[in-house]
Amino acid sequence: MNFEDMNIEKSVLDSLNGIGFTTPTDIQTETIPIIKQGYDVIGQSKTGSGKTAAFGIPLVEKVSKNGGIQGLVLAPTRELAKQIAIEIEKFSRSKGLCVQTVYGGVSMGPQISGLRRCEIVVGTPGRIIDHMKRNTINARNVKMFILDEADRMIDMGFIEDIEEIERNIPKNRQTLLFSATMSEDLIGITRRFTRDAKRIRTKTTVSEKVLKQYYCDIDQQKKFSLLVHLINQEKPKLGIIFCNSRREVDAVSANLKDNGIDAKALHGGLTQDKRERVMDSFYKGITKMLVATDVAARGLDVKNVTHIFNYSIPRSAEDYVNRIGRTARAGESGKAISLLSREDHESFRKIMNRYDYDVSKIQAGNFKILPFKRSFSSEGRGFFRGNNFSRGNSWHGNSHGNSMHSRSSPRGNWR
Ligand code: ADP
Ligand code: MG
Repeated sequence: MNFEDMNIEKSVLDSLNGIGFTTPTDIQTETIPIIKQGYDVIGQSKTGSGKTAAFGIPLVEKVSKNGGIQGLVLAPTRELAKQIAIEIEKFSRSKGLCVQTVYGGVSMGPQISGLRRCEIVVGTPGRIIDHMKRNTINARNVKMFILDEADRMIDMGFIEDIEEIERNIPKNRQTLLFSATMSEDLIGITRRFTRDAKRIRTKTTVSEKVLKQYYCDIDQQKKFSLLVHLINQEKPKLGIIFCNSRREVDAVSANLKDNGIDAKALHGGLTQDKRERVMDSFYKGITKMLVATDVAARGLDVKNVTHIFNYSIPRSAEDYVNRIGRTARAGESGKAISLLSREDHESFRKIMNRYDYDVSKIQAGNFKILPFKRSFSSEGRGFFRGNNFSRGNSWHGNSHGNSMHSRSSPRGNWR
């Protein structure tokens, strides 16, 4: 199936051609036709499956130029609002629609003048309410109300804001709700915003067809050595190593450098300038390995990342999804490998309980134990050797080679 077979208006098709979108993803194939028919839709699919275009394409089709604000898209964070707006602008290029982003932390002025001219508004709930209270947003013509990343918006406590916004827009609009995860609670809540909604759930993401997920059990003290071993064995074209704190990022990247692996740190403690230089060098493939925190990696859009290493397991399931969404983009194949120490199991189990991922266990095999210097750079004390493993020791992983399929194995069995 191509976009051309989906009865999409010419100007929108032209825009899609212009950005190289030819084949719709699963969620797009399933939702676009019923959205075009006018149904409310609750769409669930994983990160990286193309949800933005699933609602963005029919939205741009439905909206007419100079018809006032007809589309209202809510997103949990300003970064997401920006990303969505950029993507929708691309779809509407030939049609010449104006898309206004609206979020807090910046002055109201430019947003207010943009709101007078635009046809589509993408924003965070709080700032949209501010504009509603000031009467700087005219929502009388809204035909489509879209909640993106609904799960995150609920988790972040936006439910009352969303309800307030909903009271201020026409009742006879179409409502679309998209989310990577869907709980019964969320469905219950969203029933209030939707009417006879069709629920669509697609399993495979673009990336999942080619992205393989693995985990490896390892003692915390041997994690770094295993990481070096895996990097040498896997030889990533481009890889990202995720850590849970800035301090861990600094320590891991410094130790990698000590072991001859060219890795650069990326976290929020670096100056904007430094961060941009690091990202640039990664985009260009000069830096092959990036050691990053979740927050810092959020803005990255790198097509050729082949490997994700979870040096620490994120506390939130969304962060895990976002991490693995960084690889296997645009048809490349990729691997995500989580290094699990005893402390990581609880977090990992929670993530696996929430998603239907297939994750296989891999064996650590034999590898050399390397010293790991803990960083105390924030106190200006440089590094010291924190472990007393002697060089040259090798360690044998345990020998259970069974692969874990989170769907088929009893969930409670995760340690
Ligand atoms: P999600 O919201 O489900 O996480 P996105 O909408 O952010 O996914 O899409 C993920 C990536 O895939 C983006 O870079 C997007 O431009 C790209 N993409 C989406 N749909 C298509 C398509 N049909 N063809 C090519 N690339 C696509
Ligand atoms: Mg999205």
